[in-house]
Amino acid sequence: MSDEDIILDAVDKFLARDVKPFARTLELADEYPHEIVEKMRELGLFGATIGTQYGGLGLSASTYAKIVERVAAVWMSVSGIFNSHLIMCAAIERFATEALKEHYLPRMATGELRGGIALTEPDCGTDLQAIRTRAVRDGDDYVINGTKQWITNSVEGNVLAVLVKTDWQVEPRHRGMSLLVVEKSSGYRAHKLAKLGYKGVDTGEVQFDEVRVPIANLIGEAEGRGLQQILAGLALGRINVAARGVGVASAALDASLAYAQIRETFGQPIGQHQAIQIKLADMATRVEASRLLTGRAAEAYDRGERCDLEAGMAKLFATESAMENSAEALRIHGAYGYSPDNEVERYYRDAPLLVVGEGTNELQRIIIARQLLERSEV
Ligand SMILES: Cc1cc2nc3c(=O)[nH]c(=O)nc-3n(C[C@H](O)[C@H](O)[C@H](O)COP(=O)(O)OP(=O)(O)OC[C@H]3O[C@@H](n4cnc5c(N)ncnc54)[C@H](O)[C@@H]3O)c2cc1C
Repeated sequence: MSDEDIILDAVDKFLARDVKPFARTLELADEYPHEIVEKMRELGLFGATIGTQYGGLGLSASTYAKIVERVAAVWMSVSGIFNSHLIMCAAIERFATEALKEHYLPRMATGELRGGIALTEPDCGTDLQAIRTRAVRDGDDYVINGTKQWITNSVEGNVLAVLVKTDWQVEPRHRGMSLLVVEKSSGYRAHKLAKLGYKGVDTGEVQFDEVRVPIANLIGEAEGRGLQQILAGLALGRINVAARGVGVASAALDASLAYAQIRETFGQPIGQHQAIQIKLADMATRVEASRLLTGRAAEAYDRGERCDLEAGMAKLFATESAMENSAEALRIHGAYGYSPDNEVERYYRDAPLLVVGEGTNELQRIIIARQLLERSEV
C-alpha cells in the first residue's frame, strides 16, 4: 500500500464510521458537527497540506483533492470546515514571515486554531478591490473597522485571514490591500447566517469594531500585497471546490444507479428504460471528466506551475456537473428525491454553493478566456 492509499483508507473508515451515520440528522438540524471535528483533528486533516516542518501532513494537492472528493461525497459541509482553514494556512506558509509561520502553523495543523478567509463584504464579493474594511496603523498595532459577510468558520473557528485596505487612495486599488491574521480573542464578533444548503458548517457575518492586532500579524514583509497573496491561495481553493463538485456529482450518480435498479415502473426497473439510461450515462461521463480535470489541475499545482487555467476549468466543469447531476438524481428519484429522508435532496441544496464560492463560475469563464488569450498571443 502506498502512503496515499493508507491515508485514503483511513479517510474512508472515518467517513463510514464517524460521518455517514450522523450527516443527515446534523444537516437537517443545521448543527455544527463538534464530534466529527474532533475526529478530523485526530486524523490530522487540519494539517493536510501544511508542511511537515510545521506539524502538518505535507500532502500534495493531488492527494488532498482525492480526500476532499471522498468527504464531499458523504457530507459536503465537512469539507468546508477544513478547506478554507487550509487556504488560510497556504497563504501563511507561502508568504508570511518565519516568525508568523512558527507562531500559527503548528497550532493550525492540529486544529487547535481553526481558520477561515474573510474577503467578501456586504457590498462586494467578485470585485474584491472594492472592499471597505480598513486597517489603520496605530503604534505597534493595526486597528481594524468594517464588516465581512458569508465567512465560513467565522463563528466556530478562532482565527481568520482578513483582507483589508491599508491604503484607500493608491491606484491601482489592489496596491492598497493587505492580509492580516486576526484571532477571535482580538474581539471580532460573528453571527451565523441562514443558508439553503451547506448546513452544519457555520457561515457568518463578521463585525470588526476597533479590533487591534499587532503589526507582526501582517502576512508578508510589506503592505499592499494582500490581494495577490489570497489569489495565489485560491488556486488550491479552486482545486478543492472542484473536488467537492466531483464528490457531490458522483454521490448523485451512485444514488441514482442504486435507485434505478430497485424502483420499478411498467413491470421493469426504471434503469431498463432508455430515458433513464441516457441520464445515467451523461451523469457518469460528467463525473469522469470532472475527476480528470481536477486531477490535472492538482498535478500542475504540485509541479509548482501557474494553474489558473487548469484550476478554473476544473472548478467550472466539476461544479456545473454537481449541479446537473444533483438535478438529474432528483428526477430519477421522482417524489422520493424531494424528501429530506433522501440524500439526493441534500445534494440538490448543496451543489449551488459550488458555482458561487471561490470565484463564481461567470468569473471562472473570464479567467479561463484571459489565460487562453494570454497563452496564445500572436
Ligand atoms: C455558503 C457560502 C460560503 C462562503 N464562504 C466564504 C468565505 O469563507 N470567505 C469569503 O470571503 N467569502 C465567502 N463566500 C462568499 C463568496 O465567495 C461570494 O459570494 C462570491 O465571491 C460572489 O460574490 P457576491 O456574492 O458578492 O456576488 P457578486 O460579486 O455581487 O456577483 C453577482 C453576480 O454577478 C456576476 N458577476 C460579477 N462580476 C462579473 C463580471 N465582471 N462579469 C460577469 N459576471 C459578473 C457574478 O458571477 C454573480 O453571478 C461564501 C458564500 C457562500 C454562499
